[in-house]
Amino acid sequence: MIKSRPSRQSKNQPARLISYGRLDVITGPMFSGKSEELVKRLQRYKIAGLKTVVFNHVLDNRYVTNRIVSHSKRKWRAVSIQNPENILNKIDKNTKVVVIDEVQFFPKTIIGVVNQLLQQHIHVVVAGLDTDFRGEPFGVMPQLLALADGEVVKLKAVCAVCKKWNATRTQRLSANGKPASHRDALIKVGAWDSYQARCRIHHIVL
Ligand code: ADP
Ligand code: MG
Repeated sequence: MIKSRPSRQSKNQPARLISYGRLDVITGPMFSGKSEELVKRLQRYKIAGLKTVVFNHVLDNRYVTNRIVSHSKRKWRAVSIQNPENILNKIDKNTKVVVIDEVQFFPKTIIGVVNQLLQQHIHVVVAGLDTDFRGEPFGVMPQLLALADGEVVKLKAVCAVCKKWNATRTQRLSANGKPASHRDALIKVGAWDSYQARCRIHHIVL
């Protein structure tokens, strides 16, 4: 009979000190299905009976507040917040999963909050734009992508110009339908009215 090897973990060491949560990052341009992917996962966490708390940024009021809403109108109840620290007030010892949509809008302090959640063995799933309308890395996304120790999912949309399935960029359009200028403000909340998914070739910044 093969004897099982003794565990390297000391008997006196609480398991919670050595088991951590993990961070999944779902990213891609607008319309690539990030929020849909979150809703799909949320349905599974519900079936699995995992206590999950969902957050969205208050800026994302395109459809409604206190909900994640995809462009295809899939919805899930969420808490709309502005300060990352608010996340810590909304979780308790039974929380198993924390989901954050539009994470690119949050300030750098979101990193410390995510790390605290991971240390509390919470599975953290964040979704956000990897690049802004200029095609440059968006806010805290590079750090979150680097810190991810679970899955990193880079979704693509259909390019609004060539209709190929390789849109990795978010095209901002001005009121006259022309590409927006590089000088425009970084954050301008909108959907079909002011944004399109585009491939690298058709992404234009004036
Ligand atoms: P994201 O959160 O990444 O902005 P959503 O999950 O809200 O994306 O929306 C994805 C949905 O958007 C798709 O299932 C589709 O119905 C719709 N959609 C609209 N335009 C496009 C496009 N150019 N490419 C892919 N999906 C699109
Ligand atoms: Mg979304």
